[in-house]
Amino acid sequence: MSRIFCIANQKGGVGKTTTCVNLAAGLASVGQRVLLVDLDPQGNATMGSGVDKRTLTHSVYDVLLETADIPEACVRSEKGGYDVLGANRELSGAEVELVALERRNERLRAALKAVDAGYDFVLIDCPPSLSMLTLNGLCSAHGVIVPMQCEYFALEGLTDLVNTIKQVHANLNRDLQLIGLLRVMFDPRITLQTQVSDQLKAHFGDKVFDTVIPRNVRLAEAPSYGLPGVVFDPASKGAQAFVQFAREMVIRVSAEVPSNAPGQDHTAASA
Ligand code: ADP
Ligand code: MG
Repeated sequence: MSRIFCIANQKGGVGKTTTCVNLAAGLASVGQRVLLVDLDPQGNATMGSGVDKRTLTHSVYDVLLETADIPEACVRSEKGGYDVLGANRELSGAEVELVALERRNERLRAALKAVDAGYDFVLIDCPPSLSMLTLNGLCSAHGVIVPMQCEYFALEGLTDLVNTIKQVHANLNRDLQLIGLLRVMFDPRITLQTQVSDQLKAHFGDKVFDTVIPRNVRLAEAPSYGLPGVVFDPASKGAQAFVQFAREMVIRVSAEVPSNAPGQDHTAASA
C-alpha cells in the first residue's frame, strides 16, 4: 500500500519542488518505490527529475481528464530511481476543463488507487495556489508536508493552508492530516531564522520535522543538470539533509497508527 503526500504551500519559491524531487530521490536511495506526481503546470519537478516536459507523450493532464491511466502516462527518472507523472503547460487548461466535469476533485485519487500496490510513497508537487489542482492533490493524499523558510511572515500564510487542510479533512478527505512542517533553506547564522524556528517548534511541537534542510547552492544548481540534488552531489550538505529527511519519513510512516483508530486525533485541527 502506498502512502501519499502532498508537498504544499501556497507561496511560491519556498522550496516545494526542491523538497519533492529530493525527497523522491532520497526515498529511492533507501530502497523505497516512489512515484512523483507533478501537479504544477510549470513542470519544474518534471524537468528537475531529468524528464523533458516538452516531449511528454502523456502527462498528469491525461490522468485528470481520464484519457490515460498512470502506468501509461508515467515515465522513469533513471537517474533519480523513481517514476514521474509529469506536467507541462497543458495542465493549466485542466483547471478550466475540470470545472464542468463530475468527480472533479477526485480524479487523481481514483487514478492513484489503481497503482496503490506499485509504490511505497507517492509525492505530489503542488502549484503555489489553493486551486483545483491543489485540491485534487489534497483529496488524494494521506498527509501534507509543508516546506517553509524561517522568515518573519512564514506563519501568516500557514494559517490559510492549515484552514484549507481542515476543510478538506472535514468535507472531502477524512484521511488527510498535516504531517509536518519542514524547515528549508535554513541558515543558522541568521538570528531571525533561529528565532522563527524556535517559535515554530513552540507552536507546532512534533509537527515540525526533526530534519532541517540547509541553504545549499548544490541543491539550486542540480535542476539545470536535470538531476535531483541528492544524485547531483551526494556528499553536499543539502543532499545529506534530504536523505536524512527521507529516513525520517520512513520512520514516521512505519510508526503510524491507522487514522480510524479510536482515541487518535490525526486531524489538522490538532495543529
Ligand atoms: P517552489 O516549488 O516552492 O516554488 P523551489 O523548490 O522551486 O520552490 O525553490 C525556489 C528556488 O530556491 C529555486 O531556485 C531553488 O533552486 C532554490 N532552493 C530551494 N531549496 C534550496 C536550498 N535548500 N538551498 C538553496 N537553494 C534552494
Ligand atoms: Mg515549484
